Amino acid sequence: MSGASIDKTRRAFLFGATAEPQSDTALRLPWSLPGAFLDACTGCGSCVTACPEGIVSLDGSSRPMVDFRRGSGLCTFCGACADICPEPVFLASTARAATPPWTLRAAIGANCLTHDGVMCQSCKDACGDAAIRFVYAAGRIAQPMIDLDRCTGCGACVDPCPAEAIEIHRAVADA
Ligand code: SF4
Ligand code: SF4
Ligand code: SF4
Repeated sequence: MSGASIDKTRRAFLFGATAEPQSDTALRLPWSLPGAFLDACTGCGSCVTACPEGIVSLDGSSRPMVDFRRGSGLCTFCGACADICPEPVFLASTARAATPPWTLRAAIGANCLTHDGVMCQSCKDACGDAAIRFVYAAGRIAQPMIDLDRCTGCGACVDPCPAEAIEIHRAVADA
């Protein structure tokens, strides 16, 4: 293993496997090492075919990214993409079991239909982690709130939202 790979693994173990550098704004794969898709990925596409949920595709630079509007629309954190990758792109398998897959969380935008007084709870219905609750306030209908402690960033709420109001990105505390 090269010195660069050791440094990346240590950094990922200390700070989480997750954060791509700010310069790489694409939604990369769970347990990927910081910057690794730019540095070490060859664009072979093995992770694309390995993903049982069909949510991985190659971007314009032939680097894999997660798209929650493809396939089943959610990441189950099965690790198949990391298992099949032949390059030093992901956290080592021995460390993955004890490390959160990423620090990404869901965020609801201002175009949520409830802001216009339209009743909708599609996101809550889709969330298997009960991370979305609806909050009532005087003079308006209930609006969704993400519980960042429960949200895993799985993406299941993204595609069902009829307003395309939900994005998965780093929690504010991680930015
Ligand atoms: S962890 Fe599993 S479901 Fe998630 S992107 Fe990788 S292969 Fe797909
Ligand atoms: S990303 Fe997953 S866990 Fe988070 S709110 Fe959406 S469905 Fe729930
Ligand atoms: S599914 Fe979308 S539009 Fe509906 S409540 Fe959730 S965020 Fe708002």
